Amino acid sequence: MITFIWDDNLVTGLHDVDEQHHLLVDLFNELNKSFLQPDGSQSGGDEQVFKRLINYANQHFTDEEALMDASGLDKRHIQFHKQAHRTFVKQVNTMWRRRQQLSRPAETIIGFLTSWLGMHVLGIDQSMARQITSIKQGLSSADAFERERKDSDKAMQAMLRMVGNLYHVLSEQNDDLASANETLEERVRERTAALHATNEELLRANEQLKAFSRTDGLLGIPNRAYLDERIQEELATAQRQRWPLSVLMMDVDYFKRYNDTYGHQAGDACLQAVARAAQKALPRATDFLARYGGEELAVLLPDTSTHDAIRVANRILQAVQALEIEHKASDAAPHVTLSIGVATVVPTRREDGAHVFQRADEALYKAKHAGRNQVSTACATAPTA
Ligand code: GH3
Ligand code: MG
Ligand code: MG
Repeated sequence: MITFIWDDNLVTGLHDVDEQHHLLVDLFNELNKSFLQPDGSQSGGDEQVFKRLINYANQHFTDEEALMDASGLDKRHIQFHKQAHRTFVKQVNTMWRRRQQLSRPAETIIGFLTSWLGMHVLGIDQSMARQITSIKQGLSSADAFERERKDSDKAMQAMLRMVGNLYHVLSEQNDDLASANETLEERVRERTAALHATNEELLRANEQLKAFSRTDGLLGIPNRAYLDERIQEELATAQRQRWPLSVLMMDVDYFKRYNDTYGHQAGDACLQAVARAAQKALPRATDFLARYGGEELAVLLPDTSTHDAIRVANRILQAVQALEIEHKASDAAPHVTLSIGVATVVPTRREDGAHVFQRADEALYKAKHAGRNQVSTACATAPTA
């Protein structure tokens, strides 16, 4: 802990000035104590004590400056002396404001205060006191000022000036460093925010890319790759939940003839309309429609028995018929129709995705053979695990 050691050399002989210097030192010590917590750790220091110290220092400077004016000191001294006071107030305020950034705030601030006061009293205040004495003895202000230059201990004065300069340069440097530090921290904050934003964008772009890679470009519904991913998840969920999972395989009837009759573009539009109608006909949000390939669509119906899956399939058939898209070349109806195969995985059997699709496809083949525009079911031929 730094303490101010009072020394006889610090006595100016000016009663009021010396008394005020003593009081300033008391306030330094009080501020120093305010940094120390009862448990021995350091706090941020007491704001109130600091305010009192600054107020008192200002009061002392005002009194001292009034004394200099009243004593008729040389203007050059007064100006230099006042400047030293102003610089001190400015520096100590800056240091206090930035004390949180100091690794040892109590030592730095109290060290600064005591060194400054010591240097100030030994140098300029003693010079002031000597000039006041000289003037009282009859010397003019200018002569008293000049005498200081000539007669005082030159080595001592030179050293005080150099220490003063050194201290001034260090304070300025410290100030610059603190400002640079604040700027750096600000820039780090900005960079962190920018990185955060970029990261968010990247995540969004990634999500979009993922959605894009899972979606069929023509129909805007999940593609085969996503269907293959999803069937694995749904099979696992069905096993866990012990519920049936049904799969529909749907295929547009005589679609090759449709393209041949109305053109490939009309064929595309027809497929889009069929996909939209099928999507709308699905009763639950968890029902999953995807393009299996070509003009074939597939639906995953979690927690749905064969019986319920047939009802869903018929709803889709009706929804597509209700579109009444003309299909002159069809042998099944005068408009576009579908054939649908249904397969169900029951929880007591273990089955892989490819096998379920194969069974649904076989059921679809049955529907085609039976005259199209209808729903067929697969016989439960799944192998047990
Ligand atoms: P079936 O009733 O037995 O299903 O007869 P089909 O003519 O529908 O069956 P086939 O598999 O012989 O023909 C399917 C046709 O679907 C052939 C192919 O050119 C067409 N197709 C597949 N994908 C698209 C597509 O994205 N757009 C268009 N316009 N046609 C497609
Ligand atoms: Mg077809
Ligand atoms: Mg086909």
